[in-house]
Amino acid sequence: MVKTVLFLCGLAIVIGLILTAPLFTRLRRKRLRDRPFSSSWQQILDRHLPFYEQLPAPLPKRLRGYIQVFLVEKRFVGCGGLNLTDEMRVTIAAQACLLVLHQERFYPTLKAIYVYPAAFLVNTKQSLGTYVLEEKVARRGESWEQGIVVLSWADIQHDVAHWHDGNNVVLHEFAHQLDQEDGRTDGVPLVEHQADRVTWAQVFSQAYLALQQDVKRGTKTVMDEYGATNPAEFFAVATETFFEKAALMQRHHPELYAVLQHYYCLDPVSWRQPH
Ligand SMILES: [Zn+2]
Repeated sequence: MVKTVLFLCGLAIVIGLILTAPLFTRLRRKRLRDRPFSSSWQQILDRHLPFYEQLPAPLPKRLRGYIQVFLVEKRFVGCGGLNLTDEMRVTIAAQACLLVLHQERFYPTLKAIYVYPAAFLVNTKQSLGTYVLEEKVARRGESWEQGIVVLSWADIQHDVAHWHDGNNVVLHEFAHQLDQEDGRTDGVPLVEHQADRVTWAQVFSQAYLALQQDVKRGTKTVMDEYGATNPAEFFAVATETFFEKAALMQRHHPELYAVLQHYYCLDPVSWRQPH
């Protein structure tokens, strides 16, 4: 009898802890968000991240809070002899958090961010009929389903210095992380409502096929032609275009822009344009 009572009490405590865990996480994150933001981090945002000064209120404050959560919760690893600095960590965190500013999910499956000084070499295998071609290929970034993002710092610096060219390795790889949250790299992130999933499938498949045709014909495209590689790359490249070439995307691909606007709950077209 005593054993049964103890077991039931233990069970009740475990269930209680499971049920209240999200509440504790929210409270812990709120404390992190409310901490004073370091002035040296603020300088990094002001000097190096062109989108920051364009954000309408209350997004700059929210972004600063999210960066504080992200930098506490996520592990950064310097690779290839790189000594990680605050500039690197804040620059990466700011762009990663931009994608989840209205979702408050902080990449639950992301475990670590590996940063190389510049483009890094990876071993690849490609089937060519009966042959398998093995070669080393230089990469700017990678996103793995196991919750790992790999980035080149030289490319990150180049991308923030050329914000409106539509290429951004951090936005690209973290869009892949959003896509991979459900364990699949298929170009479809977690979308809550069934009706939104249907719209997503219609709009994305149509726009993806149109990009493939444009690339085949050699037509100039708003989105980088790398988006025609497969649906997963299409979503990642569409995300880069949405944030960096918002007005062009809205003009040329209004339906795609609207779906991304709904998904990210952000409207970069309305942000203050650079002077
Ligand atoms: Zn990619």
